Amino acid sequence: MASYYNNETILWLNGEFVKASEAKMDFYSQSLHYGYSVFEGIRSYKTESGETRIFKATEHYDRLRNSAESINMPYSWTNEELIDATYEVLRRNNLQDAYIRPVVYAPANMSFVKNTTSFIFIEVWEMSPFFGDKLLRIMTSSFQRPNPKAFKITAKAAGHYVNSILASQEAKAKGYDEALLTDMNGFAAEGVGANMFYEKDGKLYTPSLGNILPGITRATVLEICAAHEIPVEEKQVTLEEIKEADAAFFCGTAAEVIGWESFDDIPFKKNWKETQSRKIQLAYLARVTEKQLEPVENALA
Ligand code: PMP
Repeated sequence: MASYYNNETILWLNGEFVKASEAKMDFYSQSLHYGYSVFEGIRSYKTESGETRIFKATEHYDRLRNSAESINMPYSWTNEELIDATYEVLRRNNLQDAYIRPVVYAPANMSFVKNTTSFIFIEVWEMSPFFGDKLLRIMTSSFQRPNPKAFKITAKAAGHYVNSILASQEAKAKGYDEALLTDMNGFAAEGVGANMFYEKDGKLYTPSLGNILPGITRATVLEICAAHEIPVEEKQVTLEEIKEADAAFFCGTAAEVIGWESFDDIPFKKNWKETQSRKIQLAYLARVTEKQLEPVENALA
């Protein structure tokens, strides 16, 4: 297992900077017993200028609030105080390229009634930028994403991730890198912690919103497509059309943009390096690190 902290690590806990090794939380928390908490996964990067920049901090903290409110957890923080605290946690841990994990959790409560308060912490750990040259072998999961009539699927709620853990462990046990999950109707939905796109004849396709987490990276990919005039369509995606595709990729804050080598053992038709998807991958990495694309790299179409 990765090591996330040591004796020196500082986290932000309900307004205070404390040592991770000394931080305490309640063993009677409703969050621990029932998976009733919400969280974010955010990245900071050392940018071209040498500054530390949290990518789309406002969008992530907006989603944290929406996640909390949609499952009836009180939420009393402003984006400004959380973003300030995040930069300060990064600074105190001497980190620039980092993964940032805020968690909103509940007090001691063994019943299901609504709480009058919530708590929060922000943890950070080192994570280097990933340049995505590895390609993934993906399989269709035997698990479906949670039915939106059973869960608030747009909330990044801890309990939903039991589904992700089961799907990921199944894929790895079968020798694949990761799983693609379907929605309750059998259409392609998303990965265990990332959204997906596929490419066919120079056009991109991605599952519509409704049965997936509305990814901030997915939105960024749509922005990149618009900026570079790459056609893209949000639609119901079948597994068969992914098997016929030229390329496919996952996108997420941690995964960034990462290409697929094969889907259910069927290799993709195009060499990854020659796809629009690869250009989007480079454009994404340029955005997060605030790097100017070379004119030749910029000629995406
Ligand atoms: N789907 C799921 C299930 C996820 O956990 C994530 C990661 N947060 C994503 C998609 C991608 O979201 P984002 O681009 O906002 O990280």
